[in-house]
Amino acid sequence: MIFAAGRAEAAIYTRGQIIPPNAKGSAVPPKPPTGAIPRAARRKAQAGGKSGALTYEELARRIDRARLKGAGKTLEPRVKRVVMSYLQSAQTHGLPLKQVVTELANGQAAWRLGGAVRDAILQQPPEAVKNAACGQGCAFCCILTGGDGGLITEAEARRLHAALTPLQGEVDGRAWHPSACPALNPDTRACRVYDARPTICRSFLSTDAAACEANANGATDQGAGLLGSHLDYLFVQSLCRQALKGITQVSTYSMAQIAAAALDGQDVEQALARARHRSKTLDDTAQDAARAAHI
Ligand code: SF4
Ligand code: SF4
Repeated sequence: MIFAAGRAEAAIYTRGQIIPPNAKGSAVPPKPPTGAIPRAARRKAQAGGKSGALTYEELARRIDRARLKGAGKTLEPRVKRVVMSYLQSAQTHGLPLKQVVTELANGQAAWRLGGAVRDAILQQPPEAVKNAACGQGCAFCCILTGGDGGLITEAEARRLHAALTPLQGEVDGRAWHPSACPALNPDTRACRVYDARPTICRSFLSTDAAACEANANGATDQGAGLLGSHLDYLFVQSLCRQALKGITQVSTYSMAQIAAAALDGQDVEQALARARHRSKTLDDTAQDAARAAHI
């Protein structure tokens, strides 16, 4: 778990401890593709949608060449392995290259790969998970006092926006606390878009609800933090951005702003434009997380 001072500061991991995905530090079959793309598969992929001169082989080379500043000697190869595995699986299943590029760019790949690492952690839960104080109606971590609420990808932003739009006009979390996530139910303090909540929400937990409450009010008590899988998610997205440089834009967004925009009636494109992060936010967030994890 990466311990952060509070949810509002989740983008700036100031101190902490990492619980690695497992003892070997790898939760996904670590078979990197060779980069050699069978001709038939390449033809099939290109027939499904060209991305300029891009091929599976070139994309694999770009991933291999990328450098993940701050990821260290263990995390960087692990992140490359999982993305290469993703690429290899897509190629094996004859997925159009255009679709693969879209999934890498919009964060769907980071969502899936980070989720796979999280599932692996939870299969053999570390002490912090076993002793988590999290429960229904406990929602101090949904008080987003920093305003940003945490980094989310485009796929997560669109999912969150779509889930919240039908809830326009209902009383939202801000009726409980002015800085609460608008997706919160102010009466039950349950997430109203549980299935659509982004990775940052799925990663957060605490062994001390009192610390969460104190942190929501400005303290920096120990106890709350993020599962180590969040590092994988962040660096996968960072790797995707490097690999797709010059091909397509890879953006990240403020969760709190997307949620507010959806409930304020903005359409999804307006919401994305309003909530888009500066380009350096992704790398800064990943590097801060790695530092907090002492990588
Ligand atoms: S204990 Fe903390 S992290 Fe867990 S649900 Fe409560 S406020 Fe959120
Ligand atoms: S999306 Fe749901 S879980 Fe995430 S901060 Fe908002 S209310 Fe909490």
